[in-house]
Amino acid sequence: MLNIAFIAHDRKKDEMVNFVIAYEQAFVSHKLYSTGTTGTRIMEQTNLQIQRFCSGPLGGDQQIGALVAQNEMDLIVFLRDPLMAQPHEPDITALLRLCDVQGIPVATNIATAELLVKALVRGDFSWRELVHKYKPGVDQ
Ligand code: PGA
Repeated sequence: MLNIAFIAHDRKKDEMVNFVIAYEQAFVSHKLYSTGTTGTRIMEQTNLQIQRFCSGPLGGDQQIGALVAQNEMDLIVFLRDPLMAQPHEPDITALLRLCDVQGIPVATNIATAELLVKALVRGDFSWRELVHKYKPGVDQ
């Protein structure tokens, strides 16, 4: 079981919901996290259970970032809006930086998200199971 997080900016939320609906079966066996509104929207339209953090502008990106910092997050789908400034831009930058620090797969657009979910289905994320297994103190 992997830890997967979903974050979508407002004008990307419909795209995120459609994406998760399309791949619901790929996600159902994993532990799912999201920022507040993104998670509500996904749960309204799927049967998935998602642990929701704060809304992004109120610190949700940082909460997900904390799990990344501990090397506990395995995959992040973060559909950013490239055409609109966000009030929490520093949090977004910090989250993506931590993904690079830990080498966590992160998709920031739908094309990459599709490729990563296909990799997930194929079992290409098994190396992350090993990270959990051999990382002391991680609950998996
Ligand atoms: P939200 O947060 O899911 O609560 O909208 C995401 C964001 O806008 O950063």
